[in-house]
Amino acid sequence: MALEEYRKKRRFDKTPEPFARTETKQRNRFVVQEHYATHHHFDFRLELPADFFESDDPSGPIVLKSWAVPKGISNKKGVKRLAIQVEDHPVDYINFKGTIPEGQYGAGTVTIWDKGTFEVLKKKPNSLKFILHGERLSGEFHLIHTARGKGNEWLVFK
Ligand code: MN
Repeated sequence: MALEEYRKKRRFDKTPEPFARTETKQRNRFVVQEHYATHHHFDFRLELPADFFESDDPSGPIVLKSWAVPKGISNKKGVKRLAIQVEDHPVDYINFKGTIPEGQYGAGTVTIWDKGTFEVLKKKPNSLKFILHGERLSGEFHLIHTARGKGNEWLVFK
């Protein structure tokens, strides 16, 4: 279930993106990918169980919970950025960089903007307080679900 949407959106004979393989081991990594798609944006991904936000005792396969952040995450305290939750991505995607061909979902070039590890400080069904240990992003961050849009809008800020 966790990666069904990811799989449905892509043709793996046409895209260099990794196949939808789930993991059982969580290593608390994150990545921010810069994506030169039709609309330039950043993709923020946290390595977490698929049912992380829904369950008090998450046990799902490990995936990358993912948000598209149009303006990117700011390392300045209090600068709130819109983060649109998108489909879970496979853990292998954490190292993905390359070009998704024209005509395929998300066509354009993907580069790795930042990566590192994170620690969860506090989780609620609609928010997450966490520490990022990246090269560009470091310190305490918050993700807050606003439930606007199609219910997929969050805010992310330091
Ligand atoms: Mn993207």
